[in-house]
Amino acid sequence: MFVETLGKVVVIAAIAFVVLLAIALFLCFFIFHTKRIIFPNLVLFIISLLYEPLRRLLAFFRIDPNLIDRVSVEIRNMLNYQVFSDTALEDRVLLLPQCIRSTDCPAKLSSLDGIKCMECMKCDIGKLSPMCKELGVRMYISPGGTFTKRILLYNRPKPKAVVGVACYPNLHEGMLNANLMGVAAQGVPLTTTGCVNTTVDIDEILNKCKMGRSR
Ligand code: SF4
Repeated sequence: MFVETLGKVVVIAAIAFVVLLAIALFLCFFIFHTKRIIFPNLVLFIISLLYEPLRRLLAFFRIDPNLIDRVSVEIRNMLNYQVFSDTALEDRVLLLPQCIRSTDCPAKLSSLDGIKCMECMKCDIGKLSPMCKELGVRMYISPGGTFTKRILLYNRPKPKAVVGVACYPNLHEGMLNANLMGVAAQGVPLTTTGCVNTTVDIDEILNKCKMGRSR
């Protein structure tokens, strides 16, 4: 009797898992192709719950698994829009990954401020740095995830909003963490991904940094 009940529970759980996967895939494809975001909180919840199975399933069917991260980032960008727009420029930070740097980057690593750009103009960060100073948005080049968390939690004045630049999977994780820390995040994907010499859309980053402000 016990084994029979257990068997039924396992079958019901397996069916529920498959149904949830199918719903998640349908919603992700719908959002991705139509650019219309429906049931945002439900989709985020299912993505958080089934992140790895969803990615593996897409990879099995030879579909780019980053589609899941992309949908997640677009939903969070939409959900965070108003809170982000209401923050002052001085309360915003721009977090850049170090993979944008040139392989000849002369910048030094500071334990407090991360990698300090010397504006040598060998990569796009050299253009972004003076623009951020003019805007009053603090810019950091992050040497890793621990540094990013430290900036968002302990930098003073405490950041209320962050523009994160990264590949889609890192944006998905970073925006989730920012949300847990109570910081409104906007994500901008790299235009060329990789470990070195990655590229960005400078205009898109600046537009995000200025979002909701006239300056
Ligand atoms: S512009 Fe800044 S980050 Fe880029 S290579 Fe030069 S010093 Fe390094």
